[in-house]
Parts: sequence; C-alpha cells; structure tokens
Amino acid sequence: MNIENVINKFGYEEELADILRKIYPLFITYFGSEYEPIIYEALINTPIIKCNNIYTAFKERGMHREIEWAPEVDEEARKKGDLVTVEDLKRASGVYHSMPDIEYDRETNTYKVANVKRIVAVNCRDFTSEYAKTTLIHELGHLIKSYYKEYTIVDDTLIERSGLIESKYRLSFDGEVIVKKLSSSGIGFEEGLNSIFEEDIAKETVNPSYTVVGYGVVCDLAKILFKKDIKELIVNAELMGEKEKFIRDFNEALMDDAYDKINYYMDRLYKLALETYASMFQPEKMKELNKITVRIIEEEVGPLLEEIKASRQAKLGG
Ligand SMILES: [Zn+2]
Repeated sequence: MNIENVINKFGYEEELADILRKIYPLFITYFGSEYEPIIYEALINTPIIKCNNIYTAFKERGMHREIEWAPEVDEEARKKGDLVTVEDLKRASGVYHSMPDIEYDRETNTYKVANVKRIVAVNCRDFTSEYAKTTLIHELGHLIKSYYKEYTIVDDTLIERSGLIESKYRLSFDGEVIVKKLSSSGIGFEEGLNSIFEEDIAKETVNPSYTVVGYGVVCDLAKILFKKDIKELIVNAELMGEKEKFIRDFNEALMDDAYDKINYYMDRLYKLALETYASMFQPEKMKELNKITVRIIEEEVGPLLEEIKASRQAKLGG
C-alpha cells in the first residue's frame, strides 16, 4: 500500500504528488492504521482533477446527474435535505462526487449497484496555494469516509452514505433506472467532523496556524465531542457505516438521545453558517444571522453540552 502507486497510476504532477506523499501517512495516523486498506483503495480508485468550473468538469466526464426529489417529499423536507444545489457546485472550491451505475433485473424485479464512478475535483490552477491544498485535504476526507459500502440497495431504496451523512433515493424502472431523492440527514455533524480532519492535517502539512473558515461553529461543536474514546466510535462509523449501532454506542457513552439532539443542532448551525457566508455582501442580514447563531449557542447548545457532560461523568462513575 504505497502512495507511489497512486501517483504513478494517475501520473499526478509534482505539486500534487508532493502533497499526497505528505498527507498519506497523516491520514493513516488520524484514522488509525487498521483503516489503511480503505484509505489506500479509495485513493487508488479515484482520480483527482483540477479545474476552473466543477459543474462543467463533471458534465464533460459524464459525472453529472440532476437528482429530482420524489413528488411526495414536501418542501420543508426538501430544504432540510438539499444543502448542495447546482449553483453551489458552480461556485464550489472542491467536491468529492460519486455516481453509481444501477442495473435493473426484469426477471427478479431487483436492482443492483454494478459499479461506482468517483472523482475529487479542486477548483484551482495548481496545487501550490494553501487554499488548493486544504480544499484537497477536505475533499479527500469525504472520499475516504464514503468509500466503504457507499451505496446499498434495500428493495427499491438506494442508500448512499458519506461519513455520517445518509441519503435515500427511490428507484424505479421505465426503460431506464430512475432515481428520485427521498431524504438526507447528518450533514452538519459530518461537515463539522470533516473540518476537524481538514484542520488537523493542514496544521501539520500546510500551515501550523491554519483554521477552517466557513463551518467554524459546527467544527467547534464537533471538537467538544471528539475526545479519545468517542473519537474512535465516530471514526469507525464514518469509515465503516453501521450507523444504527454507532448511535446506540454513542448514546450509551454520553446520554440518552445525545445523537439526535446533537445532530439537530449541527444541521441548524451548519445551515446558518452557509446562510451567513452567503450574505457576505449584506451586512445587515449577516449581523442578524450572527445574532441568531450566538443566541442558539448560548441558550440551547450550551445547556445541552452541560447536560451531556454531567451524564457522561455519571456514567464514568465520577
Ligand atoms: Zn465538506
């Protein structure tokens, strides 16, 4: 499992090869050496590209598919589950993206995932800037946390996982396989965790004082939970799936319903962070959104964290 194989396979340019050589051993340390096969397989089966428009780059490679929501999903649920739109993709600094080839068997009326196409794209001219390197680290984090059992099919439901994010789609067949989105959850928590990953690796390779911008609040909140034994539980769930078992273990270690409560605030704060970021040129709106964020943290998240801390101390018998 030598990173040189990855570099040679895709013929990566020197700047990209250089950063990969530095970050690969750190990835293994961060996640744990037992996960090296997943990290290596993910990297050797996924090309990394640079481009100036991710949306166009995906279209050219046949990697773009418009996903429609299933008609019965209401507006509220769509908003909750649809944080990345085509517009975001056009502006995005980097994306990890995958596309499953789904085959339908008429005789047994069953679907199966025949193959998964993957790509990591960074919007940059080369991999020399801090921005390009940290974006690459962040997106490779998403790739590694998605790679194992990324897609599963149960009857006519396709389940896609990416770390703690779980999205569901309904499959149907009408001469071709039609995919309609049903739900998506866990985005805020996963982005917070992935920002910790990005920050940790970037501090050691790119800039010792690097901090993540954009998802600051969810990152801080995730950090509070990301302590030794809990970190092992979280990393295992991010890389291996088994989310139901993870939620049980997580609540067992911290507090009844801890996961649902944290997940709820992570999603809310993540959405607020995106809105705040998008209102960069509307100072009044930005001020208002910051006020809401601070209020939620002080009045709701703070007490919740205190409650979790007390519950954990009681469980540890101290
Ligand atoms: Zn991300």
